[in-house]
Amino acid sequence: MDRYSRQIRVVGVGEPGQTRLRQAHALIVGCGALGTHSAEALVRAGVGTLTLVDRDIVEWSNLQRQVLFTEADAAGASPKAIAAAEHLREINRDVVVAANVADCNLAFLRGLATRPDVVLDGTDNFATRYLLNDWCKQQGIPWIYAGAVGTEGAAMVLPAAGPCLRCLWPEPPAQGDVGSCETAGILSPAIAAVTAFQTAEALKLLLGEAPTRGVFTCDVWRGTYQVLPVALTSAEDCPACARGELAALTAPPAQAVTLCGRDAVQIDAPRELRIDLDGLAERLTSAATAIERTPHLLRFAADACRFTVFPDGRALLFGVRDPLRAKALYDRWLGFA
Ligand SMILES: [Zn+2]
Repeated sequence: MDRYSRQIRVVGVGEPGQTRLRQAHALIVGCGALGTHSAEALVRAGVGTLTLVDRDIVEWSNLQRQVLFTEADAAGASPKAIAAAEHLREINRDVVVAANVADCNLAFLRGLATRPDVVLDGTDNFATRYLLNDWCKQQGIPWIYAGAVGTEGAAMVLPAAGPCLRCLWPEPPAQGDVGSCETAGILSPAIAAVTAFQTAEALKLLLGEAPTRGVFTCDVWRGTYQVLPVALTSAEDCPACARGELAALTAPPAQAVTLCGRDAVQIDAPRELRIDLDGLAERLTSAATAIERTPHLLRFAADACRFTVFPDGRALLFGVRDPLRAKALYDRWLGFA
């Protein structure tokens, strides 16, 4: 227990609390910037079991902010979940780390061998966040939203009993309303700030403490940090809380992914949508190359992949074979999945 001696001295932890953390299980969805920061914090704190899920591989552009990865991981294009788990075991061999190279979809969540006590959002897309919201609501598990773009971040606890993400926004935001790290960039301290809030709240939940209520927001460039108040009870018209409609658990499975030939993948839109291709082209100006807008489609190149995007959200990705990788690139660059 010497390892945790400084943490045990913290009011609210103590030896009983440390034992409680050792018996706890956290699910971290996504092993990118958010997920690697929060996983490291929880493993160092002695949370006994960690389940990681991520479908992507480590790239050189990740090393600036994804704290667990090394140059060797990028050079070897290691799956993020596997590389993260290996480094986490080097940090704390007492923690059981389960690594899953997979899409976090409903089948994955239903297939979990043991039920997590808390779920940490480390995703980059709202489709997965709404799935986590609805699944956690159904299972009675608290989850902690987190997101960061540019120099700004936000995080919020969605307790097992109480308001959920749909209370605030009944449906996922429309494409174009949210920036992405690909187009707006991301400063590592913004990740550190939101995951500091997120992991502190995770530890509090695991220790049986009442979580902070409200939306934590920060802009690390301007130096502003605040918790904005939110309603403490569920919205009367929330489809999930008031009517029990957990749309993400009944909706058809995620978008269809079709292999086209040797080196191309087609991805259908996750739901009915119309994309503003002009707006998308403008946001991509500084981040992508070979941008070409025709009356019917938009073409661009990024991450060694060539994209052809149609107004209904369908996209062809050339230069990629693995469907999981294609979906990761689709969500990363088109950002409305
Ligand atoms: Zn709700």
